[in-house]
Amino acid sequence: MEIYLDNCATTKVCPEAAEAAVKAMVEDYGNPSSLHRMGLNAERILTGTRKAAAALLSCDYSCIYLTGGATDSNNIAIQGAVRARARMGKTVVTTTVEHPSVAENFTVLEKAGYTVKRVGPRADGRFYAEDFLDAVDGDTVLLSMMMVNNELGTVLPYDKVVPAVKKRFPDLAVHIDGVQGFTKLPFSPERLGVDLFSFSGHKLYGPKGAGGLYIRKGLRVLPVEYGGGQEKAVRPGTEAVPAIAGMGAALKMVRENRAAIMQNYRERNAQLRALLKEMPGVVINSPEDGCPHILNLSVPGIPSEVMLHALEEKGVYVSSGSACSKGALSGVLQAFHLPAERIRSALRVSFSKDTAAEEIDAFAAALREVTGHLGAVVKG
Ligand code: PMP
Repeated sequence: MEIYLDNCATTKVCPEAAEAAVKAMVEDYGNPSSLHRMGLNAERILTGTRKAAAALLSCDYSCIYLTGGATDSNNIAIQGAVRARARMGKTVVTTTVEHPSVAENFTVLEKAGYTVKRVGPRADGRFYAEDFLDAVDGDTVLLSMMMVNNELGTVLPYDKVVPAVKKRFPDLAVHIDGVQGFTKLPFSPERLGVDLFSFSGHKLYGPKGAGGLYIRKGLRVLPVEYGGGQEKAVRPGTEAVPAIAGMGAALKMVRENRAAIMQNYRERNAQLRALLKEMPGVVINSPEDGCPHILNLSVPGIPSEVMLHALEEKGVYVSSGSACSKGALSGVLQAFHLPAERIRSALRVSFSKDTAAEEIDAFAAALREVTGHLGAVVKG
């Protein structure tokens, strides 16, 4: 039996998305920029995906730009907005717990002479809106924060931060990396005053290689790449129509089944929490009020990678997240003030819409067995 519990890394493509992607490859294979009928058919697919995303964001579909994924969207949003504001200020604000596709952009901006302020969680592992308000000032040109942390599931207080920041500094651009929160939390960029919002198709049952960026109407974003002017020159290059077709079908499926999908995340999360609480030596790192598709846990004393591979032997796939990339402790989990021993042994379990109760029981049984065995080996 194979039990895939690494849905934060990527999801299995749903049948609707696979079908749409194949159709785009073998039937509607024209270039969306071509002026003939085949081009128009491909262009229609792009429009369909824009509309599917816009329906989930309650915005106009002309605000949705199609990209190669959230890494692409984050780069375009951050660099594009900062470049467009080059003369307006030299300070940018972000958090200490961003995904590398955001964090690395800020490292580059810092090297280019920008003052980067990074807001972190307090000792209780929570973010406070006041800390963001303290960080922004009249020199700030961009605030970029994630919606949901991809390692712990912690929900950031963007709903309080954005309106408050925008009230004081209307010209400041606000970007949200929405990858782990999109469709999982109610969200409308227009209602909140968000200028830029990134999302990814492959985290939501679509194929890899497609994502999107919401750009508020009228917001100036300078291109970071130059080419044939596709996506209003914001993301030039022939669009990945098959992946985009798949993303559109997947987003439609998610929209139609949203309540049931969320219910499954919540049920599996509660089930696993209850099972883990009965297991000595296991601690839960995710907050109780986190996004329910993620549950991060530790078995102190057993390193993440040892545990991950022992579970893999039993057909169970989880993630150490970036818990111990290249042997270093995860900077993100450190930023959340987790003790070193828990970081060293952190495992991220993430559920899909189809994760079954039996799979969670089987995971818990495998974890219990592996923990007993490895625990004995570690102690011995
Ligand atoms: N941001 C967050 C919060 C993520 O979890 C991920 C994916 N791990 C990304 C950005 C990057 O997304 P993509 O794989 O579509 O480039």
